[in-house]
Order: sequence, then structure tokens, then C-alpha cells
Amino acid sequence: MDIDELQAEALAAVADAATERGLETLRVHYLGRRGRITQELKGLGRLAPAERPTAGARINAAKGALVAAIDARAAALAQGQLAESLAAEAVDVTLPGRRQSGGSLHPVTQTLRRIEAIFVGAGYEVVTGPEVEDDYHNFEALNLPPHHPARAMWDTFYLEGGLLLRTHTSPVQARVMERSAPPIRIICPGRVYRRDSDLTHTPMFHQVEGLVVDEGIGFADLKGVVIGFVHRFYDREVPVRFRPSYFPFTEPSAEVDAQCVHCEGVGCRVCGDTGWLEVMGCGMVHPNVLSMSGIDAGRYTGFAFGFGADRLASLYYEVGDLRLFFDNDVRFLAQFG
Ligand SMILES: [Zn+2]
Repeated sequence: MDIDELQAEALAAVADAATERGLETLRVHYLGRRGRITQELKGLGRLAPAERPTAGARINAAKGALVAAIDARAAALAQGQLAESLAAEAVDVTLPGRRQSGGSLHPVTQTLRRIEAIFVGAGYEVVTGPEVEDDYHNFEALNLPPHHPARAMWDTFYLEGGLLLRTHTSPVQARVMERSAPPIRIICPGRVYRRDSDLTHTPMFHQVEGLVVDEGIGFADLKGVVIGFVHRFYDREVPVRFRPSYFPFTEPSAEVDAQCVHCEGVGCRVCGDTGWLEVMGCGMVHPNVLSMSGIDAGRYTGFAFGFGADRLASLYYEVGDLRLFFDNDVRFLAQFG
């Protein structure tokens, strides 16, 4: 091949090189130790002495042109790469920033706080106690001796060593009565546990119980407190009714219904077409319960009530499935911010 053709071919290849790596391959191909232009220089010895200076100058000129073209192409490729990465990594400073979404209190926590505020405003003290309880405080001290058939009312999680997960917050009441003298006016909010799970039951839920013990406390006081609470909770005077019921630790006992807030008593899916929603259980503290905790049942009387805060929250917020409260789905919880 003639040196002019070789130079033209090499320059065209350099101009086409798309990467720095391809360019290096070309450099080795033409200018390396065994490169094609290098070979031409080595071949000068075979020429007649008179031809060598002219041919040598021509080959060196081709070599110089190729070196310059490779350097220029290398610079251009580097420049292109820089521009490319600048474009790829560009930050659009006009885009809106990523927003931090604010958290909010869990709907059950909001409900518990509202409930506590209502009772604290009425002079009640908020008391808490252990969630892992002994059999005595969860059952016996509440008029439920071993083998009492009413123990079957609670599907209990039993632990080793005679302990259990409390099935209600009533043991807190027993502990308060053991250590303090009347007048007692407390509410006990907290987590309780039962082996139960469906649309309206979860294995863990939040209960609030109230206890008032003093001289001359009667059922009328209980009715006044319960009705007043329901009205404050719903922010309006919904009709409330008391139905006779049975609890081992109160006598007499009653279940409390509030008129269905969804259908105003007409009957709907939420209330099972009855027009009423059961909101709590209550009653006059059984004299045995007072005596077992060292309170003179001849002198003092009291009343107690208890309800599920999650249930009240589900009625208040119109949530049909209690389990939604515990799924931790942010899309659900964000609705209560
Ligand atoms: Zn209804």
C-alpha cells in the first residue's frame, strides 16, 4: 500500500473512533512497535540510498499527522464524555422538593386522649397497671374464684408461673382499692388481651374502665356519669338506654346502648337494624370485691364501668373492621390526621 493511502485510511479510522479505548487500539495498530507505519519506517533500509531521505520524510510526515489526529480525537472524545455526564447528572433545580409528610396520632390514641380528657375534666385520676397479671388480681379479687364458671367469659392467654395477659383493666381497680381508701374516682385505660379475632374483635385491644367508691354512691350516680360521658364523647345528646346484664364483679349489672349514630335509630347495617349500639358494661361494685380489697362494704358503695376504646373509635370514625386499626397501613391512618 502506498503511504498516502495508508495515511488516508488511518486518519479516516481515527475520525470514526467512538471511544477512547477504540482510539488506543488504532494507535497500537498504526504506531505501535509492530504498527503499520512503524513497519514502513523499518522498511526504509530496503530502499535505494538515494530514495531514503524523500521516503523517510514522507513516512514521518504521515506519522506526525496521525499522532496529531489521535491527540485531537482523544481530546474531543474526553470533552464529549464530560458533556454527556454533565447532561446525565444534571439537577433540575426548578423541580419541587420531596415533601416530608407529617405524622399524626393513631386514631385509637386520639380516642383514648379524648376519653381521658372528658374524665379528667370531671375530677377522675388516670391510673395504669401491669399487662402481665397474676390470676388473683385478674380474677379472684374480682369475685371470680378458681373454677367459677364465668371465667369462661374471657378467652385468656395464660403464661407460665400462674401469670396471664390481663383480660381487662379491672385488676388495676383491684390494686388501687388495695392500696388506697375511699373516696376513689379513677379511670384505667390500657391494653388488654383475649384469644379472639374477627371483624369486631382483635387479640389485643384498648379498654377503659372507671371506678368510683365513696359513701352513698348509688345507681343514679352511675347513670348520670355514663350518660354524661356518652353525650360528651359524641358531642351531642344521643339517647342512651340501660339493659340488665350480668358481670361477676358488679351487682346489679347493666349493658349500655347508645342510639345508633349512623341511622339515628332507624336501623342500618352498622347497628344490625336494631337502632342501638352497645357501648359499655357497668354496674354497682359487688360487696365481695370491696371486701376482698379491704374496703368496708357496710360503709362504702361504688360503681364501675368499662368499654373498648377501639370499639368507640370504630363507631365514632365509622370504621367497619376493627383490624384496620392494627394493620399499620399508612394510607388508612393518614385519614385521621
Ligand atoms: Zn344504625
